[in-house]
Amino acid sequence: MSDKPAADLADRARTTRVVVIGGGIAGLVAAWECARIGMPVTLIEQQPRLGGRIETDELDGVTVDLAPEAFSLSAPALVGLLDELGLRAEVEPAREGSVAVALATPGGPRVVTLPPNRAGIPANVWAEPVRALVGGRGVWRAYLDRLRPPLTIGRERSLGALVRSRMGARLRDRLVAPLTLGTWGVDPDQIDVDLAVPGLSAALTRAGSLAGAVGQLLPDDAATRGPRRARLRGGLTQLVTALTERLLLLDADLRVNHRARGLTRTPDGWLVHLDPADPRDEAELSSAQESAEPLPADIVVLAAGAATSAALLREHGIVLEAAPLPVRDVVTLVMDAGTAASDGPATIYPVPGAMAAASVIDVGSAWAGVRAHAGPGRRVLRLTFDAAPADDATDLIARAAADAAQLWPGIGGVRAAAQRRATLAPPASVLGHAQRTAATRAAIGRRHGLIAVGEDLAGGGVSAIVADTLAEVERVRHDVLWTRS
Ligand SMILES: Cc1cc2nc3c(=O)[nH]c(=O)nc-3n(C[C@H](O)[C@H](O)[C@H](O)COP(=O)(O)OP(=O)(O)OC[C@H]3O[C@@H](n4cnc5c(N)ncnc54)[C@H](O)[C@@H]3O)c2cc1C
Repeated sequence: MSDKPAADLADRARTTRVVVIGGGIAGLVAAWECARIGMPVTLIEQQPRLGGRIETDELDGVTVDLAPEAFSLSAPALVGLLDELGLRAEVEPAREGSVAVALATPGGPRVVTLPPNRAGIPANVWAEPVRALVGGRGVWRAYLDRLRPPLTIGRERSLGALVRSRMGARLRDRLVAPLTLGTWGVDPDQIDVDLAVPGLSAALTRAGSLAGAVGQLLPDDAATRGPRRARLRGGLTQLVTALTERLLLLDADLRVNHRARGLTRTPDGWLVHLDPADPRDEAELSSAQESAEPLPADIVVLAAGAATSAALLREHGIVLEAAPLPVRDVVTLVMDAGTAASDGPATIYPVPGAMAAASVIDVGSAWAGVRAHAGPGRRVLRLTFDAAPADDATDLIARAAADAAQLWPGIGGVRAAAQRRATLAPPASVLGHAQRTAATRAAIGRRHGLIAVGEDLAGGGVSAIVADTLAEVERVRHDVLWTRS
């Protein structure tokens, strides 16, 4: 431990210039973590608003998140951040909303609510919904798992391969795959079972079957974890607003409408080169040019996604792997409730071919606050679709309304709608993710004062990103404050 006096460290912080590229949740958290210890921070965001994927809007007077909405209550970093920002009172735990799978039938999708499960693996293969989804032979195949020798799970890390080998392909395809494909656009064969369902490995060794293992985990879930998911009343943008307010109080320079286009090394740090927003007239031209002067930095935080990081680092000889990501269209609808049944599952994942959508969330079934806000006459739904370049908002909204009408016969017309297109980063539980992140960071880490954060490295999801960003910023703060001469 160094004996540097606190005043010396405070001086170092004050003279350590930080530029954060990207104003999504990763960039905002990184900026705050640096600004709060006295570092002068400039944040660059190419869009006219901060928040990145996080966006909340009013549709027909109902406040709704348009893409990310839920987070895990068992994530200490995010929960701690919400406490620090004074947002704990805004946290709304999820209702006991059920998850369903939609099967293709000649008469339209048939919705089957899953029995108690983990990652779609049922605790009881004889439950009626399992039979409805996989048929009598599928149930027998799944039951055979009870009669097999209790292999340890450690021999099979892939969730999909494990379920297929122990309970059969039909159960994998109809109970497990719709959930991972609908949520992440990732096949269950690509998911690391130990990360996706912690504890299943040990439980399988004890119970001797997958269903038995899930049966052992479920009471634990109920007793120790309580509701695992939550949202913020008033939307996730409250997190963005609270961080922005704190940053402004700390005199951070937040520049929206500016794109970082280059990064050069200087003898004492970095220069970040910017493209300004397009000036609307002559009067805006000179201020746009001034605000686009290159920014000197001692720490550069790359928080703008894999493609931007790869482009900025290429000229420094750092080649990052930027795998193509699935692109999703997200359509949020406020519809007249009509005569449709008001209850039902909170989330519906189709088996391929059952519906156009990749996932459907009945937002009012998932969250009591939204249901109360919308009232009995309206229904708030969010549907995602695998994006096709030719689709436009009008087509997508019509397709979403058509899927809704099939799922809830009697539902009324669309009162308001919003559509967003976004890439889906895979979760941290994808096989090989930790190794790819480590390799990227090893390549970047050799350059003093440069770090990369965000969903491409942490895995998709606000909780994972907050935890990872806090750890990375702490690492670079320590390096710069304690080792810079
Ligand atoms: C449909 C959908 C639903 C989701 N649902 C959930 C959910 O319920 N719960 C959950 O936890 N997660 C969810 N996610 C994932 C979550 O939204 C993301 O993982 C997270 O918001 C990503 O944050 P980020 O800061 O890494 O990236 P982003 O939010 O993408 O921020 C990156 C920012 O960098 C900016 N930028 C890019 N290039 C430049 C440049 N050259 N110069 C300046 N700025 C630049 C971009 O404009 C953007 O604002 C969902 C994602 C999608 C697409």
